[in-house]
Amino acid sequence: MSDTFHTPDPFDAIIVGSGAGGGVVAKVLSTAGKRVLLLERGHALAWADVSRDHLRNHRLSLYGINTGPAALGNPRVIVTPQGEERILPSPNLDGYQNNAMVVGGGTLVYGAQAWRFLPQDFRMASLYGIPQGSGLADWPISYEDLAPDYERAEQEIGVCGDASRMTLHGKRDRPFPMPPMVPNRQAEVLGSAATRMGWQTAPVPLLINSVPYNGRPACVHCGACVGFACPSDSKNGSQNTVIRTALATGNCTLVTEAIVTSIDTDARGKVVGVTYVVGRNFRSSVRAKCVVVSAGAIETARLLLNSKSDHHPAGLGNHSDNVGRNLCGHYYPGATANFDDIVTDCVGPGVSISTCQFNHGNKGIIGGGMLANEFTKLPIIYWRGAFGPGMKRWGLAAKEYVRHNYLRSMHVQGPVHDISSPEGRVTVDANVRDQWGLPVARLSGTVHPETVRTADFMAEKAEQWLREAGAREVWTGKSGLHLSGGQHQAGTARMGHDPKSSVTDPFGRVHGHENLFVADGSLHVTNGGFNPVLTIMALGYRVGRRVAEAI
Ligand SMILES: Cc1cc2nc3c(=O)[nH]c(=O)nc-3n(C[C@H](O)[C@H](O)[C@H](O)COP(=O)(O)OP(=O)(O)OC[C@H]3O[C@@H](n4cnc5c(N)ncnc54)[C@H](O)[C@@H]3O)c2cc1C
Repeated sequence: MSDTFHTPDPFDAIIVGSGAGGGVVAKVLSTAGKRVLLLERGHALAWADVSRDHLRNHRLSLYGINTGPAALGNPRVIVTPQGEERILPSPNLDGYQNNAMVVGGGTLVYGAQAWRFLPQDFRMASLYGIPQGSGLADWPISYEDLAPDYERAEQEIGVCGDASRMTLHGKRDRPFPMPPMVPNRQAEVLGSAATRMGWQTAPVPLLINSVPYNGRPACVHCGACVGFACPSDSKNGSQNTVIRTALATGNCTLVTEAIVTSIDTDARGKVVGVTYVVGRNFRSSVRAKCVVVSAGAIETARLLLNSKSDHHPAGLGNHSDNVGRNLCGHYYPGATANFDDIVTDCVGPGVSISTCQFNHGNKGIIGGGMLANEFTKLPIIYWRGAFGPGMKRWGLAAKEYVRHNYLRSMHVQGPVHDISSPEGRVTVDANVRDQWGLPVARLSGTVHPETVRTADFMAEKAEQWLREAGAREVWTGKSGLHLSGGQHQAGTARMGHDPKSSVTDPFGRVHGHENLFVADGSLHVTNGGFNPVLTIMALGYRVGRRVAEAI
């Protein structure tokens, strides 16, 4: 490897990763006139570059995925709850806890559900106590602290929805900038059932244009949102909103296929910049006044832990052994049903109606979660996941089952507020290295068992909803205890006031470092009973402002 690739330096800020958090920080800093270097290990992919293969995508990754990381050269190690250690050579494999590595990160291929957390979600320990062995804690900030940044994310990146019906949510100052998507057939059926049971419902807020917005068109309702790039450019991710704005300022330089291998410190232990590698031949050490790590909860922890020095022998920010701990994501329980009548119209996005009736206040249960009907299902996903118990997946009977039931089927599910455990964690492996020679992420432990109880409770609620809606048959399953992470990964560099129990301060600044920040899902103290991305974006605005003040 030669050091022949040079970029001008020093920058005001280097941002590692261009996903939900990093994209917002790039926008905030570059529009404030700061010189920004945005380093992204993935490619910049247009819609036509992202495969539409139903077996190789971020919704169903049986044989591969349709963004990065590459299938070879990026292994991870997983230790199962039974203590068995396995090397996972490829990101599409079960247990890898993958998210998309590409310009835009997860937001290029996400489903775009755009939830604010509830006020109670920021006070889980105070509300429920701390189960023994869990990492449950309050956030150092309240919903009210984050509300203006939720609003910025909704207005600037673009969310459609109907806030007037989200009666269980915290106070907000402005409605969504776009009306909700027109309800589909499933929403009508489930909505009537919820009314009969006295459950609150609302359209699912989405980072998708229900009408033309910010110079891009309205959704064409194709139903291929989740796992794929958007053919009409109506889905709002980092890559086509905040990063576009950042680049247009002329202050932001985006380098793709550039993996940051270390955060560099000087002889006194102060952060001075990063070293990154492009391909196999070019390495560059770049200097900046400030570094913001936005690599996603697993890779952020890995990078901090791999950035060791004499001053920081356990890695950066890891003086109290908190980096990588409390990895959480979301258990996603639900129920599937068959109806006598047609209940599905396949009009995309598909996810259309939600209830927040059971996010909190469930007797004997810690937390809860939101429930919604599912995105329009790819036929192969229906084939794999929506057959009733005991049904065979081959032969004439299976074909007839699909033909009859596909449009008569519904699936209700939702993310459970995971109760994390400090033992569910990311470390770096002592033996296994990636194609650049860096120790890979080693994932071990599980969430706290209370998560399983909450998940089983929520599955029963999904079943109840479908039965009331008139389902002929409904089935669900019990959850097992396992590690959580995956597409909703969070929690590995949590914010807090106390450096003994947290990695960053309430503005994402790593304790003990004046110029090192984190801005991604890692900051989450808990992960809400909601899909997390709007919270990550809101925190991006909050951290970005603080970085701009610091440089
Ligand atoms: C199929 C799918 C559906 C989803 N649906 C929803 C949804 O409906 N609603 C919702 O709220 N959330 C959803 N999510 C999750 C959401 O996308 C993530 O929560 C969010 O993108 C995480 O943001 P982040 O900033 O933490 O990290 P990411 O968005 O993962 O960004 C991290 C970026 O850092 C880059 N990177 C990592 N390491 C390095 C390095 N060393 N050097 C340089 N670059 C690096 C990665 O390539 C990546 O681009 C979905 C995700 C997927 C994949």
